[in-house]
Amino acid sequence: MIGTKDDTTSGTGTLEDFGSVRCLWDDSVCVDPPTHFVAQEWADGTDAEVFCVRHYVLTLARLCQLHLPDCEGDFAGHVASHGEL
Ligand SMILES: [Zn+2]
Ligand SMILES: [Zn+2]
Repeated sequence: MIGTKDDTTSGTGTLEDFGSVRCLWDDSVCVDPPTHFVAQEWADGTDAEVFCVRHYVLTLARLCQLHLPDCEGDFAGHVASHGEL
């Protein structure tokens, strides 16, 4: 379910394009530098967030484990693109 580097869309942009130099994990303060991004599809558009590798994995895992079982959508319908910055 979790894709590899080969699945990601290239040319997504640099870290500066995401407007954050800090991991955006919101359950706790994380000061690790972001190295990965997740671009999620919402009703009002795509929202890209950057995470350290640990929280990148957790973000995708949380989606797959906690959200998708109760949602009619699938992974591709939630995550527009993801991968390394
Ligand atoms: Zn983090
Ligand atoms: Zn959903």
